[in-house]
Amino acid sequence: MARIVDRYGRHLTYVRISVTDRCNFRCRYCMPPSGVSWVPHEAILSYEEILGLCGVLGELGVEKVRFTGGEPLVRKGFVDFLYRLKEKHPQLQVAVTTNGSLLKKWAPRLADLNLTALNISLDTISKDKFSYITRGGNLEEVISGIDAFRSHSDATIKINAVLIKDFNDGEGEISALIAFARSRRAIPRFIEFMPLDDDVWSRDRFISADNMIEVLRAMGYTHFSDEEGQNSGPATYLQNPLTGQRVGIIAAVSHHFCDRCNRLRVTAMGEMRSCLFADSGVNLKEPLSSGDLEEVCKRIMECVAAKPQSWMGLKSSSRHMSQIGG
Ligand code: SAM
Ligand code: SF4
Repeated sequence: MARIVDRYGRHLTYVRISVTDRCNFRCRYCMPPSGVSWVPHEAILSYEEILGLCGVLGELGVEKVRFTGGEPLVRKGFVDFLYRLKEKHPQLQVAVTTNGSLLKKWAPRLADLNLTALNISLDTISKDKFSYITRGGNLEEVISGIDAFRSHSDATIKINAVLIKDFNDGEGEISALIAFARSRRAIPRFIEFMPLDDDVWSRDRFISADNMIEVLRAMGYTHFSDEEGQNSGPATYLQNPLTGQRVGIIAAVSHHFCDRCNRLRVTAMGEMRSCLFADSGVNLKEPLSSGDLEEVCKRIMECVAAKPQSWMGLKSSSRHMSQIGG
């Protein structure tokens, strides 16, 4: 039963926790070429602190936590930490978002964790374009990671692609990603490019969800559903009437889904944010490090009390997605 209910009556049952701000890719829409200035290791939440936090969240009725980053698999000990979490808080649904580059190595152990879902970010299956958008990423590594995970697990895999005009928005590119996802029994989802950072955001590359839906309809897809379940994101699903394959569209920018928002976020440094677009939040690291769980709970409630009704009108954060935990 959700115990975190904000002043607009929204039940907050889902928390995204960034375990690191570091990443081995430099995706053009997420980070500058030189990367961001990394936070020193002591300043990020320790695994012990994240375990404490998850305990408090569970007590408060949070049902699902998603670990993200930066790239969670670059942080030493991440998979061992997930095992400890599952043991200590078995009631929590656990999901991970990864760029897939290190997945092959960790696939068997991740598969044994019975994750609720594994989200893999993959914007294109063209080798050269992949290397371009990630600034040097190796597509084959990601594909072999997906294959390794699938060969060990039947868990839900979602393949998330940020659609960028004149880069990966052609019908051929979209079809290829959808076919690739189908061949791996994964759910493809297309995501709007978000204006989080003036340096890397260029409006002329934006493609709206409406536009994506139009393209899919022209390809024969029909409306399927606007929801995916209680804990999940603001996706609209379309379906291929011939194969039954579902394709998700996530309108993070153009549509108001704030009235259905069920989430909170925690940065790698332990700052809880009530909205992706909020500029600040509450510091949870301090009370977590001293083991003052009552204070952690109090601060979470302060953060919830400040949750805006909508992100519209908030001043856009100048931080990169990798620092907030996308
Ligand atoms: N490194 C992991 C990965 O790429 O999956 C997890 C962190 S990454 C910040 C999480 C998600 O944020 C990725 O799917 C990425 O495509 C998305 N993302 C980053 N910057 C974005 C932006 N400006 N607009 C839309 N999505 C963005
Ligand atoms: Fe790294 Fe993920 Fe950002 Fe790409 S989107 S730079 S993989 S954190």
